[in-house]
This record gives sequence, structure tokens and C-alpha cells, in this order.
Amino acid sequence: MSATHPASLMSAVDQALSIKYNNLVYELRDSGHDIITLSLGEAFFDLPLPRFDDLSGVGLHHYSHSRGLPQLRQRLAKYYQDEFQVPVDPEQEIIVTAGSKAAIYMMLLAVLEPGDEVIIPEPFWLSYPEQVRLCRGVPVMVPQDVSVFDLGRYVTPRTRAIVINNPNNPSGRVHTVAELAHVHDLAEAHGLLVIADEAYNEFVPPGTSFRACGAFDPDKHHTVTVNSMSKNYGISGWRIGYVIAHRRLVDEVLKINQHLITCAPTILSCYLAEHFDDILEITRPQIRRVVALRNEVAGQLADAGMTVVPGSASFYLFASLGDSVLDSTAFCTRLLREGGVSVVPGIAYGRSCDRHIRISVGAEPVDRVARGITAIRDLIDATSA
Ligand code: PMP
Repeated sequence: MSATHPASLMSAVDQALSIKYNNLVYELRDSGHDIITLSLGEAFFDLPLPRFDDLSGVGLHHYSHSRGLPQLRQRLAKYYQDEFQVPVDPEQEIIVTAGSKAAIYMMLLAVLEPGDEVIIPEPFWLSYPEQVRLCRGVPVMVPQDVSVFDLGRYVTPRTRAIVINNPNNPSGRVHTVAELAHVHDLAEAHGLLVIADEAYNEFVPPGTSFRACGAFDPDKHHTVTVNSMSKNYGISGWRIGYVIAHRRLVDEVLKINQHLITCAPTILSCYLAEHFDDILEITRPQIRRVVALRNEVAGQLADAGMTVVPGSASFYLFASLGDSVLDSTAFCTRLLREGGVSVVPGIAYGRSCDRHIRISVGAEPVDRVARGITAIRDLIDATSA
């Protein structure tokens, strides 16, 4: 056998389909094509370039505390307390790391035994199942038509955790209080962890109420909250995310963080701690606009006879392909090659989602979004039986 053969585990792990598509977009753009990009997992905001020369503190160029810069942990703990009434001890119940993607992986690594099952409702953010597999666990996907109130059917003696992505990427759905209470009851009854990914918590329109999972379990007996600065602050490239959990779990994640990452980027953490509220003040009005655009587009799609999975938050729409005879991958490939519009195939978000596509309205101006939507509708019409 060649020395370059990968571990057998890797054959079970796929590339992130959204990132694969976006790489294709970058390649097409580099070769001179104008691509309307409705496939990116982020909203673009106008933000001032950070100035580091007025930062206080020493060691800005160096490693910092592996739990995260103390000032940043304090700000994040206060944010969860003030916004969602979730008490967080900044010394022991939070760890900041290089993005929430790494945070979720480290938490899974810290809690899963080989063969442990993790319940993941579809449509899911596509890294959950692959991360579970990387940790030698077993992702148990739940088709998208199964109600949260029926998740109990998927619990077995091997179930270790349930992932709740609220608001949801790709549907923009916000869970109701009754649904969250049900998940917590289920977790308590079976000794499971609820891994609550709240990366889009700011992207909720007025009138929709968002409840943090942590508010149901202030002592963190079974709740792990994961969040990120990537979306709410519009700084995905800074790679800063965090986990809020029981100190016992945070201590385990700390060990993994020390061996994999050391610490989140120090100078950026320091900047964030000092400008925490200023940045949010800049992003919040822009968040409101992009969420309003999302809901405007949802209305336009409905008017044009297209079905969108119910949701009101984020900048994503999970739209049905209606009568098109194409599966989601064939549809997206044709849309990109022939229409110059990129969206993500629904199959990336679960096997029950191959009749859908994810449309992200966060990274293009309104007129280009409208042109992209027209191209999607035209391709559905052209490929309908
Ligand atoms: N959770 C969800 C639901 C996401 O959509 C993303 C990024 N697309 C992440 C986590 C990871 O974000 P980051 O690593 O940038 O914090």
C-alpha cells in the first residue's frame, strides 16, 4: 500500500459542498465570468477597517489565554446575559476559539465515544454530520418533514446529543419556545446534550421571538451553546467563535484547543473586546436590511408560485425546485454554467432536501439578487415536465 493512503475514516467524510461550489465560483470569476453569487454563507457589511494602533494591552502579536482573552470572554458573557438571560461565568463556562466550526468539532471530540449517535434534523448545516464522523460518531439524520416534537423516535441507547441550529441555516427557521422546551425535556429525560448553534441569532426580524437554548438550562446540565462573530459581526475571516457550556465540558474543550489552536487570534480578540458594542451598532442596521430583503424575496418567490421552506430569519432561503425534473446538483450546475448564478444544492443539507436549493441574498446588491432569482425561476420553468 502506498504511504499516501488516507485513513479509512476519510472515505466517509465529504467535502463541504457549499465551499466546493464557491471555489468553482472563484475559478469562473478568475477566468473572466460574471457570476451572481447567491451561494455564500455570509452577508457582506460595510465595516471600517480595524485600526490596531489605539489598542491597549501588551502581547498583541503573541499567543494569548487558551480560554480566550479575558476581556472578550467578559463581553460575550455579558451579551448572553443581557440579551438572552443566560448566566455565563466568563472564567469557567466559556471558551473562545478559531471560529465556531472548530468549536463544534472540539465539543463533539470531547463528548463522543466511537459509535455514539448524534441526532441532526434536516435541513442541517452541512458540517455537522461530517464533524460527527470525524469524531468516529454516527450522525442520525432526521428528514425535514419530521416535527421537532417527534425527535424522540430517533433516540436510541447510543444517542449522545441533539443538534439544534436556531435560526436555521439553510431555511432561516426560528424554533418556537414550545419546540425548544420539548427538546430540553427530551435531553433531560434521556441524559443527552443539546448542542445549540446560534450563529445567526442577530438575524431575526422584528416580531419574531428568538429564545436562546441556554435560557432553558441556566445550570448547563445538558446544554452546549455555540456561537460565532462570523455572521453577527460580519467578520467571518477573522475566525472567532465560542462555546458556552458546563465548566466540566469547557475544561475538556480547553485541552483540545490547547493542542490544536492554542488561542483565537489575539490582536483581533483584543480589538473585538474593545469595540464589541461599536461593531454591533454598525452591523445591526445592515442585518435588519438583509433580513428584510430575505423576506421580500420570499414574498416574490411565493407570488411567482415557488415554495420556500417556512422561515423568517437569516439571509437564506431554502426554495423548492417545484416541477423541475432536475435534482438539486444538476440544477445548480446548470444554473451556474448557463445562467451565471451560483446557489447551493439542497442535497448538501440532507437527503430529504434534494428537491431544494439554498439561496443566499447576503453578498450581492439587490438588483443582482433580483436577476439571480429570475434566472432560477426561468430554469425551473425550462426544466419542468
Ligand atoms: N454554524 C452555522 C449554522 C454556520 O452556517 C456556520 C458557517 N457557515 C458556522 C456554524 C461556522 O461559522 P464560523 O466557523 O465562521 O464561526
